[in-house]
Amino acid sequence: MTFNLATILREARNAAPDKPLCHTQHATLTYEQVDAASGQVAAGLLALGLERGDRVAVQLPNLPEFLFCYFGILKAGLIMVPLNPLLKAREIAYHLEDSGATVLVTFAPLAKEAVEATQAADEVAVYVVDPPGSPELPTGALDGTLPFADLVAAASTAEAALDDIAPTNADDTAVVLYTSGTTGRPKGAELTHFQLYMNCTVSGDLFGVQPDDVILAVLPLFHVFGLSSVLNVVVRHGGTMALVPRFEIGPVLETMTRHRCTVFSGVPTMFFALLHADTAQHDLSALRVGCSGGAAIPGEVIRAFEEKFPGVVILEGYGLSESASTTTFNISAEQRKVGSIGKPVWGVETRVVDDHDRPLPPGPEHVGEIVIRGHNMMKGYWNNPEATAETVRDGWFHTGDLGYADQDGYYFIVDRKKDMVIRGGFNVYPREVEEVLYTHPAIAEAAVIGRADERLGEEVVAYVSLKAGAQADEDDVITYCRERLAAYKYPREVRFLSTLPIGPTGKILKKELRAAAMR
Ligand code: AMP
Repeated sequence: MTFNLATILREARNAAPDKPLCHTQHATLTYEQVDAASGQVAAGLLALGLERGDRVAVQLPNLPEFLFCYFGILKAGLIMVPLNPLLKAREIAYHLEDSGATVLVTFAPLAKEAVEATQAADEVAVYVVDPPGSPELPTGALDGTLPFADLVAAASTAEAALDDIAPTNADDTAVVLYTSGTTGRPKGAELTHFQLYMNCTVSGDLFGVQPDDVILAVLPLFHVFGLSSVLNVVVRHGGTMALVPRFEIGPVLETMTRHRCTVFSGVPTMFFALLHADTAQHDLSALRVGCSGGAAIPGEVIRAFEEKFPGVVILEGYGLSESASTTTFNISAEQRKVGSIGKPVWGVETRVVDDHDRPLPPGPEHVGEIVIRGHNMMKGYWNNPEATAETVRDGWFHTGDLGYADQDGYYFIVDRKKDMVIRGGFNVYPREVEEVLYTHPAIAEAAVIGRADERLGEEVVAYVSLKAGAQADEDDVITYCRERLAAYKYPREVRFLSTLPIGPTGKILKKELRAAAMR
């Protein structure tokens, strides 16, 4: 079956060409404008001689050019490789080499790293987006690169019509999304046109996205959550997005007020920041739903958030890069279970299995690995059949997440396989300890890790930051946990930081904390 994901943009443009697709700090772009600009990128890339299935890497923050490139690459029948703007030269080089991308579109402030990364690789053409307001660059910083405008200009000499959408097959790869997965070096999850289409169709229906919705797009679009559950969902349902390049509370609140955002999709740390922000000067009354994913959101944060913003419901979902985003979801206030990741979405099956891949019955006493299959599952890891065979067994993708199902079919994540702490032979799920820490009145953020211990194998260590003006010492926190948790679970050591380290998608970087705990 021929099908190209870029069709979602074309259909939305045909339905409402003048409708705003995205707001930025400086401009508003309509569906017609984004469709036309992505057509130019498509024609420009084809004019370079790229052919169906060739890879194009894009390392951009949330700017309109991300949309132009994404839909342009798809329209041309090429494969998009989104890269995290925080990657350094060595990492960029790895991703380019692994994916075999021959074009890299980057952002002026990042160009130095791109140039360094491609020095040894003559065959990679680097195009640089230099939007208004980006910092002045030192002379020579862009040597060896071309302005993004050149790529677009190449469209005028292209034979391909700007309106064309390449007739790709539904199971052709559309995006290679790099993820650390459960182990090892980053691997590229191959997502097809059809998988991404199914996911945005199903996800948008879950929380009833309508054309008059305005979704805040602060989740990075290079990540599956932003790409599939924000960008694709908005376009598929003819809505509008308000682009924010990075999560800073001031610009986020201003954008939500100015554009009357109705949907906020984010990771728990973002909900947490909104919860503790002074929002008195801002009007967030248009907000109706918050979609949380990417990490577990503490029940206490949901409760306090809904109390602070009456009328808003937080719905938690779960997904991975390999599953083209949403896999399970809590579909409404009436049908959700706080603390659960919800039920599998339409067309997706989930199971909990033991170490021998045998399905486990429901019940919190039957914790095992969550495995998935269905329409949104990746084709495999790019050029890495060994890694694919390791994680996809008998048609089931092994997530590396530990959890259980209840009698009603709701799933609960207990932890990530590798995050579990084994203290003196007992399994301690950091998530459970963190839930307790979050109920402590003085604690703002909490993360629990295992530190190597000669006697016990591992010891439970908590990292916390305190709320502004609040006070607590190590003894208070340990006593608080001891009163609420079994003896083998409560942290024996508590370390205080002003804020916990978080990664670009807003997840707490436990790897850094583990390294710090050993020092
Ligand atoms: P990524 O591939 O970067 O999207 O990371 C996927 C991982 O994020 C999953 O394997 C989970 O460990 C974690 N994750 C996503 N959603 C949730 C959630 N609602 N609760 C707990 N962990 C989550």
